[in-house]
Amino acid sequence: MTVPDPMQTCDIAIIGGGAAGVLTAIGVLRGARGELRVVLVEPQLPLGRGVAYATRRPEHLLNVPAGKMSGFPDQPDDFLDYLVAHDALPGTGRDALAQAFVARHHYAAYLRQRLQEAVDASPARLDVRAARVHALQRHADGLLLQLDAGPPLRAAAVALCSGNALRPLPARGAGTVPPGKRIEAWDYDAVQDVAASADVAIVGSGLSMADCVASLAASGHRGQVHVLSRHALLPLPHASGAAADYDPGPLLAMGLRQRMRALRRHAADAARRGIPWQSVMERIRPLGQALWQSLSFDDQRRFLRHVVRYWDVHRHRIAAPVHAQLLELRRQGRLHLHRGRLETTIAEGACVRLGALDPRRQPFQIDAHCVVNATGVEMRAQAMRNPLLQQLLGSGIARPGPHGIGLDSADDGSLLDADGVAEPRIQVVGSLRIGRLWESLAIPELRGQAAQAAVRLLPPQA
Ligand SMILES: Cc1cc2nc3c(=O)[nH]c(=O)nc-3n(C[C@H](O)[C@H](O)[C@H](O)COP(=O)(O)OP(=O)(O)OC[C@H]3O[C@@H](n4cnc5c(N)ncnc54)[C@H](O)[C@@H]3O)c2cc1C
Repeated sequence: MTVPDPMQTCDIAIIGGGAAGVLTAIGVLRGARGELRVVLVEPQLPLGRGVAYATRRPEHLLNVPAGKMSGFPDQPDDFLDYLVAHDALPGTGRDALAQAFVARHHYAAYLRQRLQEAVDASPARLDVRAARVHALQRHADGLLLQLDAGPPLRAAAVALCSGNALRPLPARGAGTVPPGKRIEAWDYDAVQDVAASADVAIVGSGLSMADCVASLAASGHRGQVHVLSRHALLPLPHASGAAADYDPGPLLAMGLRQRMRALRRHAADAARRGIPWQSVMERIRPLGQALWQSLSFDDQRRFLRHVVRYWDVHRHRIAAPVHAQLLELRRQGRLHLHRGRLETTIAEGACVRLGALDPRRQPFQIDAHCVVNATGVEMRAQAMRNPLLQQLLGSGIARPGPHGIGLDSADDGSLLDADGVAEPRIQVVGSLRIGRLWESLAIPELRGQAAQAAVRLLPPQA
């Protein structure tokens, strides 16, 4: 008879094994100078996939060129090196590969390979627990993690890398629609299983919608596709062109309205010189966090209320071929874009009926064989349906971030408790820092945060 292990202990626990958790683990393993026990807790194995890189579909592309997707700030070409070494796009030279939008599944494989290399080279030991953390308590001598499987875990320090959650379908009746007719856009297999002749209603018109349409097209879908969203804005494409050479520095001193005007002016100037507006956006990409933090609280609120939809389509762009496919489907009369607010979703025999209000509050209906929830990333931590986050907020170990989005964190990444006191033993990495940083979702930000968190998590002697 075996006696169950009453408690597991470790130096560092990492909650979440998506890109942020794996990059943090690599940073810790690379930085360790002596024996150290690291435990990574992730319910969805294999590691490195999270939401974005769980897809196996070749048509699901990164929305950042490969040359900018290194996982490590001090090795800017590392992802490119990996792709070249694995001949990921046969026949494509290194320079072309750096500009290419490769399939997202390469990224999960890349993260796993770099993690394995770090494990092999490190004096530290990494254990992976296939479980979900559902509670965390603070004690003077450590942090106690309760898991949904196996014994609890006591850690000296924790990285909170729990990532993205999908917004629920914002409609009355949605819960009564049976699973085969109500599909989450991030359930890539379910999207692929949609019948070729089915009419599909997609709620949301952002990047997850683009993924969904690409998958339907790749699997020979012939039915109608209805896209419903409040603003009916499709994602815009990346474009190649000369760099915009304006000085973005003065934007930081401007209020929101003045900033938006200045950006439009820069885009118009660029257009006159044959430079695409996308280059104007690229110029401010490295300033994303500074631009957010230099806005007043009221301007941040105005941005979230009035500007964010327009910002998103310009900032989160898609590969040009994916955009061209959307336009072509519209031209063929197969993709219909509806502007409106979803109110109800009801199963009607073999169909699903969506009830919506148009911008003049006039009701209209969309009938389809299934509805896909592509409403995107939930930003409010308490709405993420993640028991750990509910517990952290409920117990005062955490508080919501500014504007109620994400969790509040200090400049050094420490979690802030309900009184605003920093807990340096808990480092937050990734999308939960959105309220403080705004730009905190994509790899260019995650790699820097993960590297810094690793330094802060490592004990001084390690
Ligand atoms: C569809 C999509 C496409 C994207 N494409 C790109 C791109 O091309 N380039 C780019 O730079 N960025 C892209 N992003 C942004 C993306 O958010 C980041 O690149 C990155 O994947 C985020 O990783 P993460 O680890 O923070 O979050 P996630 O990928 O969400 O991973 C979080 C992990 O934590 C686990 N977890 C959650 N709660 C717990 C818990 N309580 N206990 C244990 N484990 C838990 C989850 O199971 C999950 O595996 C995309 C995002 C999406 C949604």
